[in-house]
Amino acid sequence: MPFTLFPSILPADVLSKTKSLQTAFQTVIYKVANNHEFMKACLSGLLNVDDFTQQLWKIYETVRNEGTTQEVSIILTRNDYMMEYAEEDGVKQDCKQVEFNTFASGAGGVISSMVDVHRYSLSLEDILFKDNQLPDNHPTAGLAKGLVKAWQLYKNKRAALLFIVGIPEPNTPDQRWLERDILRLDGSIKVIYRTFPQLIKQMTLGENKELIVDGTEVAIVYYRYGYAPKHYPTDAEFKLRLDMERSRAIKCPTVAFHLAGCKKIQQVLAEPGVLEKFIDGTDVIKDLRSTFVGLYKLDTKDSSKIITQALQTPERFVLKPQREGGGNNLFGDELKDYLEKIKESPELSSWILMDRIRAAKHRNRLIRVGLGPECRDVVSELGIFGVHISTPTSELENFECGYLLRTKPEEANEGGLFSGHSCLDSPFLV
Ligand code: ADP
Ligand code: MG
Repeated sequence: MPFTLFPSILPADVLSKTKSLQTAFQTVIYKVANNHEFMKACLSGLLNVDDFTQQLWKIYETVRNEGTTQEVSIILTRNDYMMEYAEEDGVKQDCKQVEFNTFASGAGGVISSMVDVHRYSLSLEDILFKDNQLPDNHPTAGLAKGLVKAWQLYKNKRAALLFIVGIPEPNTPDQRWLERDILRLDGSIKVIYRTFPQLIKQMTLGENKELIVDGTEVAIVYYRYGYAPKHYPTDAEFKLRLDMERSRAIKCPTVAFHLAGCKKIQQVLAEPGVLEKFIDGTDVIKDLRSTFVGLYKLDTKDSSKIITQALQTPERFVLKPQREGGGNNLFGDELKDYLEKIKESPELSSWILMDRIRAAKHRNRLIRVGLGPECRDVVSELGIFGVHISTPTSELENFECGYLLRTKPEEANEGGLFSGHSCLDSPFLV
């Protein structure tokens, strides 16, 4: 994994604010995922122009019409932020939401040891710090606690926890750290790993819709794969996803929660008066909203003004499709060229426009394959992990469990850890 040589300075109040907002964000997403009318109103406009979202929607509707066989669902979330200077003084920083992940929120495992690396590198340089400036951070302890809790709710001690993984799978180390923490909590839990092609051959549904893989009943389907259209090269993968969705296994996440994590939903939630439908308390709503930057739909008659602005000053915006996993967003000239191309087309409905966050710059050394550790201008992204377990009528668990700090060169648009741009980092709290 790429990593920074030193921890990056982060205001302690930014970390505590983002951590404290996690449960409220999770409640909002829970309520969205369980509000059929709202989901339909948000997504129906883009289904005709976005094949992948349409396929997920079909699975969601099919299972909704059949009636669910499993009331419990779990999400492991990561709410991503970037830090902006609140004022021109360049001192006070504020956090702005990039996006809320409900599917395959990774890197909780590989981040855990960074703080020790950084305590060590600081000690080599004789840089003094207090214990609370480099706190322990162990997201997988919480994520594992959530998965084990959900596994207990399934009430079959022999049923396994299934990790659905990619081919090849660059996240194996990250997943194994999570597995270790699961086994620390209960060494009797059987954890199995399968790819989509393996499951197409090995998975069956039992008499009561039990999900069975090679003779083993599965309690929890934990998706670390299945968020991108390329993961579904044929109809067989969609059929598999449908069968898993209609099974008795507890899904992490259900298709409803997957869809609730769409960028389109994020855009609608930022519209005036919408958060109020999902959460009480003016102070909480104010705090959640304070993390939003401008988000715009592009398919109404009022959109022409913002489209013109984006074409004139593309550097101020990011153009986003309904995709996950990095590398899909458009910036700068690419944004301008593409928007110019689709500005009269129905395809506009499948994109949202977002203000570009002017992330606070600082200096660090990035340790990346094939590159020297030169000191350079960098920006950081902070992701807060959380667990939420629920039934359609009640929230059973809702907690925050640590964070991911990753840091990339200032000029990089996107910050994928596995694409090698972004580096694992720790906050040096001030
Ligand atoms: P994905 O779901 O593909 O990961 P994200 O919305 O998380 O898409 O965006 C990917 C990356 O692009 C982010 O991690 C961040 O580095 C950059 N990015 C996204 N939105 C913004 C924004 N509004 N301002 C600045 N950078 C952004
Ligand atoms: Mg993301």
